[in-house]
Amino acid sequence: MNGVLRRAPRAARMMTLAGALAVTGGCASMVSTEQEVQLGQQGAAQVNAQLPIVRDGAVNSYVNQLGNSIARRVDPRGIQYTFRVVNSNEVNAFALPGGFVYVNAGLIARTSNMSELAGVLAHEIGHVVERHSVEQLERAQGANLLASVLLGGSSPIAQAGAQVAGTAVFAHYSRDAEREADRDAVRFLVQSGIDPRGMVSMFQTLLREQKSQPGAVERWFSTHPLTEERVQNAQQEIAAIPAASLRGLAVNTTAYTQFRNRVRAGVR
Ligand code: ZN
Repeated sequence: MNGVLRRAPRAARMMTLAGALAVTGGCASMVSTEQEVQLGQQGAAQVNAQLPIVRDGAVNSYVNQLGNSIARRVDPRGIQYTFRVVNSNEVNAFALPGGFVYVNAGLIARTSNMSELAGVLAHEIGHVVERHSVEQLERAQGANLLASVLLGGSSPIAQAGAQVAGTAVFAHYSRDAEREADRDAVRFLVQSGIDPRGMVSMFQTLLREQKSQPGAVERWFSTHPLTEERVQNAQQEIAAIPAASLRGLAVNTTAYTQFRNRVRAGVR
């Protein structure tokens, strides 16, 4: 119990929520979509204040267009997704609860076509759709902190916010969650008319880079354990898709190449 709990009337509300969490025992989540979005907004405010977010209008417009072309087809909750580019040469991408997705310029710069970035975004969208962050937060922080965050306790928010910014909570998923997000991504891409084979070529680029320049991809590998097994799983998923469904899916566009070149040129 922390200091926040001693104050009324928030204390009463928090007891109720903490009680509800205890009753559900962590099985079915009691965090509503609305609360999840609220949590994501709080996290996004922290992240936006702490990370160098690219402000360029053309870059923002393109990444949101591409990301939402997938998200609006596959997230049954109809929540509004926001995609942001982080001005860092490291390879990384992460998602906050409620549809706030971040991708580093360094990752975009390393793609060879649109389907490769779409694969990364689809994977992050998978984490949001499956609510992996909410599950993770419930597990990592326990009922009290979650209740405090949802009900606006200031001290726990600061704590959670610091972790959000470091992506310590929201980016360390279990291997099972990673597999699930990969499976989702293959499906989401096909549903969105985008070639899922870009996921595999992106994985291969990152694995190659890990051997030649491990520093630049270290963070990505720490939050998204990438092994040959993941590449093989994605290849198997894709092999199971009827050839007719894979025919004619989008791999690249002129707009993507322009966007990537703008990012490569170091736009801020
Ligand atoms: Zn992941």
